[in-house]
Amino acid sequence: MNHTRYPSADAAELYGVPYWSSGYFRVTEDGKIQVTPEPGLSATLQDVVDELVARGESLPLLLRFPQVLSGRVRQLSEAFRTAIREYGYAGSYQGVYPIKVNQRRMVVETIAEAGQTYATGLEAGSKAELALCLAQDLHPEALLCCNGFKDDGFVKLALWGRKMGKNVVITLEKLSELDRVLRVSKELGVRPAVGVRFKLHARGSGQWEESGGDQAKFGLNASELLQVVARLREEGMLDALVMLHCHIGSQITDIRRIKVAVREATQTYVNLVQGGVELKYLNVGGGLGVDYDGSKTTFYASMNYTLSEYASDVVYTIQEVCKKAEVKEPTIVSESGRALTAHHAVLVVPVIDVTGPTRQQPLTLEARPDQHQIVADLEGLLNDITLRNYREVYNDAVADKETLHNLFDLGYLSLHDRARGEAIFNSILQKVARLVQGLPYVPDELEDLPKVLADKYICNFSLFQSLPDNWAIQTLFPITPLARLNEKPTRQATLVDITCDSDGKIDKFIDLRDVKSTLLLHEPDGRPYYLGIFLMGAYQDVLGSAHNLFGRVNEAHVVALPGGKHRIELFVRGQKARKLIENMGYEEEMLRESIGQQVARAAAAGRLSPEEASELGETYSEELLGYTYLEEL
Ligand SMILES: *Cc1c(COP(=O)(O)O)cnc(C)c1O
Repeated sequence: MNHTRYPSADAAELYGVPYWSSGYFRVTEDGKIQVTPEPGLSATLQDVVDELVARGESLPLLLRFPQVLSGRVRQLSEAFRTAIREYGYAGSYQGVYPIKVNQRRMVVETIAEAGQTYATGLEAGSKAELALCLAQDLHPEALLCCNGFKDDGFVKLALWGRKMGKNVVITLEKLSELDRVLRVSKELGVRPAVGVRFKLHARGSGQWEESGGDQAKFGLNASELLQVVARLREEGMLDALVMLHCHIGSQITDIRRIKVAVREATQTYVNLVQGGVELKYLNVGGGLGVDYDGSKTTFYASMNYTLSEYASDVVYTIQEVCKKAEVKEPTIVSESGRALTAHHAVLVVPVIDVTGPTRQQPLTLEARPDQHQIVADLEGLLNDITLRNYREVYNDAVADKETLHNLFDLGYLSLHDRARGEAIFNSILQKVARLVQGLPYVPDELEDLPKVLADKYICNFSLFQSLPDNWAIQTLFPITPLARLNEKPTRQATLVDITCDSDGKIDKFIDLRDVKSTLLLHEPDGRPYYLGIFLMGAYQDVLGSAHNLFGRVNEAHVVALPGGKHRIELFVRGQKARKLIENMGYEEEMLRESIGQQVARAAAAGRLSPEEASELGETYSEELLGYTYLEEL
């Protein structure tokens, strides 16, 4: 029963939903999270999860929304079309999706399909990625860009793609690749289409600033670019050079950096054209950001521009430079990956337990006659706290607790006294926290207190498998409960996963002004409590690692229907334990044999009855074929 009335608009505000969701998620009147891919279509996430649980499926669960993905493709292409119309730009726009951002079949196929209308292409950065891209059915003019370092096999595959009638462009990432491309294309008798990645001196902003500038890993500098032109001219193949490409890094937080880079790229483009190179495409690369915290700032988890402003500024800048130089406006290409894929995936994790200092049993241990003075001191502090002295008391208590532990280490304190002392200290913390709660401001030395006192919500998932970007590069993802958003959340919490790794925790959360160290959550009420982790679909979806042998999670592809209904299009089972064990070099056969022999020995020694032996074998088999996450909860 819901006793505390709480407007769901307040929950939306608290969790920042309107700010980070780009309109794809909202909080309903009855306090639930809905996905809203298009006007009139919506699905309630909790309903989807309940349906799957009723079918006997387990969590954690990754929900994918294909409509959100195709919506992003449309939104990006339409933003460029609008800008092109508004400015009377003479060229067109063709997006290219760099599949390294997420190569999952559902993602690539959905983007390819939605992109049919817009001639959206793909970008491959390796041979395997190219093999995957070539098999996709794209619009005939859609680009297939080959980036990354290349060997003969890579170039051959690209050239055969061209022969198949696909618009494959080989991007030179370093000068020596030109010789390779020329040689292999002569061998095969296929004329290549070549792009050059140019090292801009302009840099991005944010976490990937180093991808641009003179020290960048990829690209040719100005003199190398001119050498490419000279060489192609010599070979009578200047018309093979069709694209100028640049990329100054991902998640560019500041729109000014984008404008500066596009200006430099266009300047380079018009110089080449004026020098007789008939380029067709200007590829401005990726970098279009995702506003993870919704703050609309240049903070690394945010961006100070919208998707429309991005398109508008790119089109305007290119047009301005071309007009001045009287050069024909190119077909604009951009390679947005993060901005296309981030929104479509939501990880749902169940909270399976809550621990924390305020959850500990109240003091039940009796004082013993020989109790150490330090414990009595702590007890004195506890009974002495007032609004006037709480700061002193807190500081004294912290010092006493340290003394308590030192005494224990040196053998001067019993385990009983230690337990009593710790429990008293805990009560002091809680009392101080209650006093501080009512104050207009929190004294500096107590700033950490909410974090110290925070609950740990234990969630059934692995950070290393499902949120590697949070662990490795501190990407902040918005997190909200899927339901109960019409009840006031009262618990300050951090999240921990089920891996045996103390790094497996989330203790930084989005905030419009700062980064929060705790997340307000609801007191568990005995019913399942699910948290949604949003904007997960870019990069880390495929970077996950099998730490502790937790594997890929169950996935559902969900379509939102009119009237708040939904259809589960596809359910993909997560990896089974057997698969993860085999990935480490073991074979199932070998494991079973070894278990079989040991069971036989134990049975022969009379430690196992025949019934027990067979039951043991069954349990072992079941777990080999089972989900790697916790199931009966
Ligand atoms: C990774 C990559 C991208 C994608 O960048 P986003 O910031 O995700 O849009 C684009 N182009 C190249 C060359 C890349 O390596």
